[in-house]
Amino acid sequence: NADAAMYHAKMVGRNNFQFFDQKMNDAAVDRLKIEHSLRQALANGEFRLHYQPVIDMPTGKVCGVEALVRWQHPEKGLLAPGRFIGIAEETGLIQPLGEWVLWAACRQLAEFKAAGLSGVRMAINISAIQMRNGNLPLLVRGIIEAYGLRAEELMFEITETVAMEQPTETVRILDLLHDMGISIAIDDFGTGYSSLSYLHMFPISHLKLDRAFVKEIGEDTDEAVICDATIGLAHSLGHKVVAEGVETTAQLEYLRRLGCDMVQGFLFSQPVPAEQVIDFIRSRNA
Ligand code: C2E
Ligand code: MG
Ligand code: MG
Ligand code: MG
Repeated sequence: NADAAMYHAKMVGRNNFQFFDQKMNDAAVDRLKIEHSLRQALANGEFRLHYQPVIDMPTGKVCGVEALVRWQHPEKGLLAPGRFIGIAEETGLIQPLGEWVLWAACRQLAEFKAAGLSGVRMAINISAIQMRNGNLPLLVRGIIEAYGLRAEELMFEITETVAMEQPTETVRILDLLHDMGISIAIDDFGTGYSSLSYLHMFPISHLKLDRAFVKEIGEDTDEAVICDATIGLAHSLGHKVVAEGVETTAQLEYLRRLGCDMVQGFLFSQPVPAEQVIDFIRSRNA
């Protein structure tokens, strides 16, 4: 009868509630554990940078590298940033981690130069949280001076979403960095708000076309059309275009025909430790 059905529904509901409650609790405990181990990893020096070469399309030479962080976990092995950047951002630990990345990437660039490599720009990914830190320009200036680098040798990559959050403050900080001489790139372009019309507020010199679009090259899809159109629009706004995730020669040739300025992807090299990227640059630029 109706009463019995109601009672049943209530009990099921209650059990479901307990079930979700337990799940949420497990998730919270997991996160606390990861936060704790991230903190320890920072203290123990478990982070590493790998570098992926960026190829200049007209010359085929390496014109830069992108620094990509990894966590050398004592038990789990080498972890990709997808496993920990999100939690680092939510817990605020991205601030010290991001600062470590800046120091490490700049020190490595100084070592590249000391090893005789020239004309290699270091691209560094900057999180939204870091971009809201008004001290970032001063910090960067200090690091550059410490290693005797020029700001022109650096490129900061920010995602569209970063740029759109708190645009006034972001523009202020980006302007300061740009005035120093640092190049600014919009990363994963095409996956966020994707409006070229308001990107003009930001002092951008490069757009990095997300690999989701590069993947569709040669296919009869909207993504392939967006890829074409984006390169044209970016150029008419005076921006250089870097294509991410180039895996095949067919993609490379297509991007060349579209006038794409730079490429990076597994076709050339995966992100690798510094010694390996030095060998790659030496043989490629010889
Ligand atoms: P991203 O900046 O867009 O970096 C490109 C990602 O694509 C890298 O993944 C790279 O390994 C991968 N990739 C490059 N070429 C290819 C290809 O040909 N095929 C495929 N399938 N993948 C390719 P990774 O290293 O796992 O980094 C993922 C994301 O984590 C980065 O995306 C970036 O948003 C973030 N990240 C990495 N390092 C840092 C960092 O130091 N700070 C911050 N805030 N974020 C970082
Ligand atoms: Mg990037
Ligand atoms: Mg990207
Ligand atoms: Mg990405």
